[in-house]
Amino acid sequence: MRRVYLDNAATTPVRAEVAELIHEYMVKHFGNPSSVHWFGREARRGLDRAREQVAGLIGAHPDEIVFTSGGTEADNLAIKGVAALKGIQGKHLITSAIEHHAIIHSTEQLERQGLQVTYLAVDEHGLVEPDHLAHALRPETILASVMLANNEVGTIQPIRELAALCRAKGVLFHTDAVQAAGQLDIDVKALDVDLMSISSHKLYGPKGIGALYIRKGCRVEPLAHGGGHERKRRAGTENLPGIVGFGLAAELSRQELPERREHLEALRDRLVQGILGGISHSRLNGHPQLRLPNNCNVSIEFVEGESMLLNLDLLGIAASSGSACTSGALEPSHVLLAMGLSHELAHGSLRFSLGRQNTAGDVDYVISTLPGIVARLREISPLHAGRE
Ligand SMILES: *Cc1c(COP(=O)(O)O)cnc(C)c1O
Repeated sequence: MRRVYLDNAATTPVRAEVAELIHEYMVKHFGNPSSVHWFGREARRGLDRAREQVAGLIGAHPDEIVFTSGGTEADNLAIKGVAALKGIQGKHLITSAIEHHAIIHSTEQLERQGLQVTYLAVDEHGLVEPDHLAHALRPETILASVMLANNEVGTIQPIRELAALCRAKGVLFHTDAVQAAGQLDIDVKALDVDLMSISSHKLYGPKGIGALYIRKGCRVEPLAHGGGHERKRRAGTENLPGIVGFGLAAELSRQELPERREHLEALRDRLVQGILGGISHSRLNGHPQLRLPNNCNVSIEFVEGESMLLNLDLLGIAASSGSACTSGALEPSHVLLAMGLSHELAHGSLRFSLGRQNTAGDVDYVISTLPGIVARLREISPLHAGRE
């Protein structure tokens, strides 16, 4: 059966040259980077090179990169590491209503310990209004965290503007750039952020490895204590195979960025037009222009996203929907609800996220099959009864 993978926002395939390098660092350069012998020195060289490659992707200095177990740990380290240093009781943090759960569940945990948290509302396109952030800043605010690009709807935030407002008040600023890294040109110095999370498996590297950028002079309290790894910011023997794989994936992403972006945008626009043109009562979610090159999120009225997903899967197409199964019930996405979508529209949403391996043929396969799936589901949908 034909298989078309359009869930690259969930994870991406590891590219062959990256997998090869990982294998080399498992069986050949397997040393502990802390060891002084040849094996250790070889490992250390791999670690240093990867740190330069990852730093290069976002315009950072290698010393400003702390390797973590992924985007989730990087987000946790930013939020909890700043709170542990600056205090929780009587302190205040600002984030947005559409963050990844790695942020939202971290801030909720700190709220239970006494931190005050403001969740900034977003407009119908998923944009944070800088004025709202300006008004939310207080003398006791320790950190603001707003994601660079949203993982569900792809909306890109005005990070430079948001970070500048915080800088002017001496408030630290973190951005979750996990979805944006490898797709958008990112420069931490131009954005002037203090902290940034990125993850390897969203940019064709292995899972279980990511990084937190920590601007020189900015400090966070470590979450894990042990040896003096990562300049005492994250203890534990380094995941060297993961790190070198991440490094190479980051380097290749940087080199390929302009062509990758062009390729993805063309496919995305073809897919969006094909779906909106081919299916009545369908609409695009997220910002029409300020969106990730690979993101196509649509709501299709009178049908359930989950039913569409199952039918697409039967035809070999992998996508995702705006509902998450929490304790046996389908919960509509907090992102779509925050953008003002009704529960029905949120439940009727589909996310197609493209990758470098996708072709126009993949997109056309979706465009030629989805309308039929929707028509059949609408025939049996009580929501659609009596409509055209
Ligand atoms: C995937 C993702 C994460 C989590 O990263 P992991 O490496 O899977 O832990 C965090 N934030 C965003 C926006 C993501 O898309």
